[in-house]
This record gives sequence, C-alpha cells and structure tokens, in this order.
Amino acid sequence: MTPGRATAPVRRITAGVAAFLRQLSLFDPPDPPVPTAPARTQAAPAAKVTLGLPRSAFAHLCVGPYAHIEVAVRPRLHESWRVTWLRRREALRLEIPALLAEAPQECQAALLEWALLASQRKHKDAVRRARRLELETTIRDHLRGGAQAQSGGAMTPAAKRRAARDGRKLARLRPQGECHDLDSVLSAVNARYFGGTLQARISWAARLGGLSTHTIAQDAEGRPYHLLTISRGYDCPEVTPEILGGVVYHECLHIAIPPRREGGRRVVHGGDFRKREREYDHYRVWREWHREGLPRALRRMMRGRG
Ligand SMILES: [Zn+2]
Repeated sequence: MTPGRATAPVRRITAGVAAFLRQLSLFDPPDPPVPTAPARTQAAPAAKVTLGLPRSAFAHLCVGPYAHIEVAVRPRLHESWRVTWLRRREALRLEIPALLAEAPQECQAALLEWALLASQRKHKDAVRRARRLELETTIRDHLRGGAQAQSGGAMTPAAKRRAARDGRKLARLRPQGECHDLDSVLSAVNARYFGGTLQARISWAARLGGLSTHTIAQDAEGRPYHLLTISRGYDCPEVTPEILGGVVYHECLHIAIPPRREGGRRVVHGGDFRKREREYDHYRVWREWHREGLPRALRRMMRGRG
C-alpha cells in the first residue's frame, strides 16, 4: 500500500525528464486543475486507465503529479475505493466502483489527490489526515448522489440497506426517559438561547454508559439531521431541569459552533465555545453536577442493573 523509498537518483532524474517531456507532448492534455495537490518527487510511467473506462473520464487528469496513477474500475466495488502501490511498475493503482468512473471532474480530482495522500507514509500528519477526510467526504457525496441518479431515483441495494438502518435508528430515538422528557428540555433551551432556530432531534443514549454527544445522522430518505444524545446518567430524580438543560445546551452549542480545523487540528471546544457555554444561566450548578453527580449516578445505575 505504501510506496517504496525513492529510487536511485539517476533513475529519478531519468523519470523526471521523461515526465517533463510527456507534459510537453502535443498529444497530452493540459495539467489538471488541482495545483494544490502535493507534488511527488518521483515521476513514473504514464497514466493508464484500464478495464473499459472511457479514456476521457480520468485520463486527462492523470498527468503531472498524478501521472503514475492507474485507474481501474472494479464492478465488485460499490461504496468503497482503494489504492495499491505496484512496486514493479512504480505506479499506483486506484480501484474505483463503476459509479465513480462517470463522476464529475471535481470528484475525479478528489479521488486522485486522495490516492496520492493515502499512499504516502506520512499518514499521521494531521494536515494530510484532515485533507484526506475532506476528500473522502466529497467522494462519498458523489457516490450517494450518483447511485440515486443512476437508478432513476430508485435505490440501489446498498442504499436500501443504509436507508433501512437509518430508519431503524430514527425509530429507536427515545426522548422520554424514566424521569425526564428530553423533547421539552430541548424546546426550552432552543427557545431561550437560540431563538428556536435549531433543528435537532434528541434521545437518551442507547447504552447506560453512553456519553452525551452531537452527531449528524441521516433519516431513511438520506436527509441529514442533528442528533443530540444525552447520557442516561442524567435520567434520575436528583437531576433538576436546570442541570439537564446544561448538558442539552452544551450539545446544542455544537450545532451553533461546529468543529473547525485550525492548523490541521480539529477544534471542538474552542475559546468561543467555552465562552458561549458559560452564558448558560445555571452554568455552575450544571458543571458541578456533571463533574460529581454524573459519575455517582452512573455507578448507582450500573449497580442497580447488575
Ligand atoms: Zn462537547
């Protein structure tokens, strides 16, 4: 999966000259419109597009830093794609599902950049990892959109399975707990702090040990929605509406202040987040219970269950 170390200097220079000449060739299309892609130090054989992929689909992008990428359509792939390093040919083989062969240029460029990033050794570099995730999101969006369009609005088997799963998840949401109704707390928090503008669903965590989280889930039609999950430790008689409102407000803030990248780092609870968090009317009461009461309540519940 990972390319070998740089070849001997001489070989590299030869390959570099070859790549340069190839780029000068009148028969080659111009460079891809992705100048930000990391340049490779090592040039390689010209791009090859295999398995009946129309040459126009990807070939014009497989130049410059992508010249050593071969794109192959794999009928057995549906929702995934992969890259392998072909040591003997010093090329990368990018295997994609048929749907992506027809993808718009933006998505194809994302695939090629992804293949380069995924094949490099510096996986652990946060900037690269962030960029890779971004590219994966773009590609996945096209896969989903393309699957729907191709089937004329009808769903592919994979999409059907996913929709059923998402539908089941939606049906399992449980806002009404033993002691507290999260829907009414969410409405109150939404009205008080967000002018009632937040669109979200809320549920007690499925597992007793489950944490309070904000995620983006999908309904059975594939429409995304904000899902707030609250730790079941809060569902006990000693928890007042002020305390419960604190954790609901915290999770709501994740919608209002989404995570962002700063120098490749994912910032979830940044300074602005913490400042807004303290604007909660019962901030100290909530924090204190969160710190001391919650672990105690969870221990008690675990014991009660056992
Ligand atoms: Zn948080």
